[in-house]
Amino acid sequence: MNLLTKTCETMISSKLISHLETLKAQGLYRSRRIFDDKTVVNFCSNDYLGLAKNETVIAAFKKAVDIYGIGSGSAHLICGHSNTHHVLEEELAEFTGRERALLFSTGYMANVGTINALLERGDNVFEDKLNHASLIDGGLSSGANFKRYPHADLKQLEKLLSTASGQKLIVTDGVFSMDGDVAPLRELTALSKQNAALLMVDEAHGFGVLGKTGGGLIEQLNLTQNDVPILMGTLGKAFGTFGAFVAGSETLIETLIQSARTYIYTTALPPAIAEATRASLKIVIHETWRREKLQALITQFKTGAEQLNLPLMPSDSPIQPLLIGDSFRATQISQQLLESGFLVSAIRPPTVPKNKARLRITLSALHEFDDVSRLLETLHRLQKNLK
Ligand SMILES: *Cc1c(COP(=O)(O)O)cnc(C)c1O
Repeated sequence: MNLLTKTCETMISSKLISHLETLKAQGLYRSRRIFDDKTVVNFCSNDYLGLAKNETVIAAFKKAVDIYGIGSGSAHLICGHSNTHHVLEEELAEFTGRERALLFSTGYMANVGTINALLERGDNVFEDKLNHASLIDGGLSSGANFKRYPHADLKQLEKLLSTASGQKLIVTDGVFSMDGDVAPLRELTALSKQNAALLMVDEAHGFGVLGKTGGGLIEQLNLTQNDVPILMGTLGKAFGTFGAFVAGSETLIETLIQSARTYIYTTALPPAIAEATRASLKIVIHETWRREKLQALITQFKTGAEQLNLPLMPSDSPIQPLLIGDSFRATQISQQLLESGFLVSAIRPPTVPKNKARLRITLSALHEFDDVSRLLETLHRLQKNLK
């Protein structure tokens, strides 16, 4: 290494080190824990139906590995698209009541790739302020005029829509990932039609959980492809596997196959994951007790938290955040909960707005009512710190 590169490297690393130090000082430093301890009760997973360790899903995965091996070996458009991917896409299309569905390797990629494939410079994209980072990144990287409206604020959105010309795309989470509340989808559907705008809904936290057969918020509200033309769902949450899909018209899906760069330029999901997902889709549809149990746990948690005066946020979903505000305090309570045997993550800026750090408690159909009671008792004990 010569002197010049050595100096450059020192300069770069001192900048990086000072950035890391700033994060620590603000209580925003993120670190990973290794989770293999079976003695804690997990209240921070998105495995809402308890399918990530389901025996039937595991068996389907193992059997498929024996047939297909591990890796898909290539992108879908080269030679990575197997029959099992294809059948899963057909099943997801049927499940969502859409003409077609297209698998993506992750939800992040589905969102970024879809928004980018649909928009170009001069177009307009409107996003809820609390949308998931992948939707925001998709909007920003598309080159379209990017506008964010205050959370679920239809009046502000209407104003923005009325002043824009050219192609318009409204993008929203269905269930908001850090707040647990739902988007005003019926109203958004009406607004999009009145303003000749396309509507894209991210159902990452709705699929499997909401609707009679787990078809998400769109099933609960009975919204068709005509109402919500671009639908995105993930498979790593309630489905318990991995990956994501976009569902919609034949034209939408063909457009994505031609133009979505995060679809074209990446390795296809392992086929065994697709096979496991087929098994979990069947369970999502038919084992309705999982949604019923989950609903009962949500009610138990909300009722108990209200009685104990815990700082609940307005959510009816399995995402039940407790608003703490201060980042240090949120981290401290999360640590205390861990010491009491509960895994609850502290969510801090920039994932949530400044001074809105929270404990994000998530419920799963596999929790026992007793787990929730004990969590509530512990929160009650830590109550002083919660306010
Ligand atoms: C988790 C999540 C994603 C990303 O999905 P991955 O498959 O984990 O990449 C996208 N949107 C929302 C709302 C999410 O919660």
